[in-house]
Amino acid sequence: MAPSIHTLIADRIDTVGDELAKISRAIHAQPELAFKEYFACETLTDALKRHGFTPQTGVFTLETAFEAQINSPQEGPTVAILAEYDALPGIGHACGHNIIATAALGAALGLKAVQEVLPGHVRLIGTPAEERGGGKELMARAGAFDGVDAAMMIHPAGVNLASMPCICVAEVQVVYHGKSAHASAMPHKGINALDGLLLAYQAISNLRQHIRSSERIHGIITQGGDAPNIVPNQTTGEFYVRAANEKDLAKLKPRVQACFDAGATGSGCKVDVNWANVDYLDLNTNWPLADQFRRHGENLGRKFVPFEQALKFGAGSTDMGNVSYRVPSIHPMLAVAPPQVVIHNPEFTQWAGSEKGDQAVVDGAKAMALTTADFFLSKPLQQQVKQAYEISQGLC
Ligand SMILES: [Zn+2]
Ligand SMILES: [Zn+2]
Repeated sequence: MAPSIHTLIADRIDTVGDELAKISRAIHAQPELAFKEYFACETLTDALKRHGFTPQTGVFTLETAFEAQINSPQEGPTVAILAEYDALPGIGHACGHNIIATAALGAALGLKAVQEVLPGHVRLIGTPAEERGGGKELMARAGAFDGVDAAMMIHPAGVNLASMPCICVAEVQVVYHGKSAHASAMPHKGINALDGLLLAYQAISNLRQHIRSSERIHGIITQGGDAPNIVPNQTTGEFYVRAANEKDLAKLKPRVQACFDAGATGSGCKVDVNWANVDYLDLNTNWPLADQFRRHGENLGRKFVPFEQALKFGAGSTDMGNVSYRVPSIHPMLAVAPPQVVIHNPEFTQWAGSEKGDQAVVDGAKAMALTTADFFLSKPLQQQVKQAYEISQGLC
């Protein structure tokens, strides 16, 4: 009996397992920040070329983005598999995007092995700048997800989860402009830009008592002055404002803006409040597809935490949220570390470059490729995915 499509995919991914682990470790060893992921982009596209793909780089307006396609000779839907590969300042791959990228590569290699027999098309899309800047939203505005019937990626974590607890986030940078003077001899001649920022910080701290438990406002001072004996003439800060959904975020942003304005009024400074051009949306998980992914994950020996229990792990944000409101999408999490180890912590960086990380690359590649194969082969699944998306969008 000829091996099934599923067996062919899984066998292919096992065959390239060592190569995938090597690539994951190489990207891990050379962390790059958002929009500057040159090494990762080149490493991934070089691997694709070795395996018979013709990847394009610099696609959809971003220099370090790429795309590679698997076009079936048969008619069928299109699935996008997404690769993130940016890291964090100071703590490297503490979000494990090396694993995301390499699992996506592995899924594409697995699916290429059955290209002739699968009725559907695959687009492997390299999406830079997840940690800041909203790369996927920028690419989406340039048409990256037009014509896509389903999109997926995996994310490493401390537990296995079919989706990620996720809230919206808006990034904002503020600049207070005051007037410098000798802080002892002539303080009355100065306008203190640090006072402006601290008044705003305090106002935000007070506001936190009166927002929903699903909302977050947090920030840092990036420039606080030059010397104690100079009244600061310019200070800067960066803040994130988070809410459960786009509507709540739209209501929260003006309240935070008012805190910044209050800082300026109280101190006599001028303030520039620069809201980022991209807000990250919450995740609109496509559950028929997420459940299919979870089943494949379970077949690989992974135990998934029920999603209802997942909120106790806290909610983050991802620009995959923006994709999920455009096309049916999933963003499952795969364990690479013990549950108490949190992402964006240096301890997680270690796990992202460990054998457990390598295992998540192979498991993630298989579960995504097999879910994609199911989607191509099952018209009922295609309909369920489409219907769930339409219901979520209020379209039916
Ligand atoms: Zn991440
Ligand atoms: Zn992250």
